[in-house]
Amino acid sequence: MIRFGPAGNETSFYDQGYKNTFEAMEWLNNMGLNAYEYQCGRGVNIKEESAKKIGEYADRFGIAMSLHAPYFINMATTEVDKIESSLIHMRNSYTAAKQMKASRVCVHPGSFKGDTRENAIIRAHHFLKNFLDDINDESVIFCPEVMGKINQLGNLEEIIYLCAHDERILPTVDFGHLNARTHGSLRTAEDYEQVVLKMIDGIGMERTRIMHMHFSQIEYTEGGEKKHLTFEDTQYGPFFKDFIPVLYKYDLKPVVICESDDRMATDSLKSKTMYEQYRNRD
Ligand SMILES: [Zn+2]
Repeated sequence: MIRFGPAGNETSFYDQGYKNTFEAMEWLNNMGLNAYEYQCGRGVNIKEESAKKIGEYADRFGIAMSLHAPYFINMATTEVDKIESSLIHMRNSYTAAKQMKASRVCVHPGSFKGDTRENAIIRAHHFLKNFLDDINDESVIFCPEVMGKINQLGNLEEIIYLCAHDERILPTVDFGHLNARTHGSLRTAEDYEQVVLKMIDGIGMERTRIMHMHFSQIEYTEGGEKKHLTFEDTQYGPFFKDFIPVLYKYDLKPVVICESDDRMATDSLKSKTMYEQYRNRD
């Protein structure tokens, strides 16, 4: 099953009188959505009790949980204290994910500052491999993300490299980021198909089919990502409608998380509606 859901809670959720994330599970279910990415970008600060409650409600309302790990993680760093702090953030993400029954943790690969991209991605792979060996629990999948700025580690090829070298790792293909870092290369269904074919070539059909995805429209400049927009934008894209034929053609069953600017659930529902309308066209 393809799943759609938001990254965190938009203002309209709180405007309707809700206060807690566990309440979002029923709210999303009522909207017809079935995934949710819990945001720990600024650190894993959630208490065990709250995380477990989210997990319980997610189960009850059929929401597939994922967790976004802290932005401070740098899997490619050579600095000992940063390796250690990155490992602590990874470990905390894993623990919170277990508590809220999240089966996926989305994580940024980090930076290649002071080194080549090639060396940095090899280090990132070793970092991730050692971490996964250490936790020894395949019920939580780590999903390194395609990043939006050119000078960040994590172009499409680098993410495929990480996943191709370890069966336990799935990609987070962020199409907004990919489009931003390639200055608008995703324009037609064929452009999306090229991405999917690259992934099939790198990690195989089965794992491509169940990839983790972020989809939002993003403004970009020369350096890549500038800012997250909503589906109201008609200038930058990428536009989800262009991806839909490819989702059907390859029978893809991803988790599609929407990171629109304060319209995460609203636009996620738009994606789902577009997807279903395509199936029921003619
Ligand atoms: Zn991210």
